[in-house]
Amino acid sequence: MDAEHVFHFDCGPHVPCFTQCCQDVTIVLTPYDVLRLKNALEIPSGEFLDAYTVIIPRENRLIPMVVLKMNEETKQCPFVTQNGCTVYADRPWPCRMYPLDMNDDGTFSLITDSSRCKGLTENRSHRISGWLIEQGVPIYDEMNHLFSQVTAPLQAQELDIDNPKIYKMTFMALYNLDTFRRFVFESSFLDRFDLAPPLIEKLKRSDLELLQFAFDWVKFGLFGQKTLQVKESALPKAD
Ligand code: SF4
Ligand code: SF4
Repeated sequence: MDAEHVFHFDCGPHVPCFTQCCQDVTIVLTPYDVLRLKNALEIPSGEFLDAYTVIIPRENRLIPMVVLKMNEETKQCPFVTQNGCTVYADRPWPCRMYPLDMNDDGTFSLITDSSRCKGLTENRSHRISGWLIEQGVPIYDEMNHLFSQVTAPLQAQELDIDNPKIYKMTFMALYNLDTFRRFVFESSFLDRFDLAPPLIEKLKRSDLELLQFAFDWVKFGLFGQKTLQVKESALPKAD
């Protein structure tokens, strides 16, 4: 299906399967998903990662898989109640997309069928392009595109990074944003990198700006891209 395709779907307490899709699912979180959820819960990113995620290292991959932790007994999402999702406004990308999924070529397909998702038997019609906007998907796509500028080159090249500090720092910048903010403002970071004062102010105030900056910092550190400027005083002195 392309973005102009019309599909039929409705979801809410009136459907017999209400909240059924919020259990026993693997929801992989992107850095922006974590940003939104930890802010919705008003807790620091480190606390969110500890309480609500499982971090699964991947062989030869610098960036682990961060998965939303389901309740061990009920297998339910920690945020579901009988009234629905308690973090609905900040739910992760896969929850926004459901029952659609985006294919690698930018087309869409149904991730389930009407035997499981009764909402697909409802009459309400949606053009996919409009439905994505209604679901708040564009900002997620924008941020996930920036994230892919980090992950895609990593997938394309053989990794030869055996320094655990690089793993730790990369993960912190991408997923543990409140710790990354402390790293920027409470270490010698600002003595080493030349950041314009308006940018510094934005980084103090906005998690969104900080995450975009984190992507730039990782691209600078891992791929040598000129996304950041090192201060002259921090450059190695010529003999
Ligand atoms: S975050 Fe919300 S929508 Fe997503 S699985 Fe959990 S309860 Fe369901
Ligand atoms: S399975 Fe489909 S209709 Fe049922 S709660 Fe989930 S999205 Fe809604």
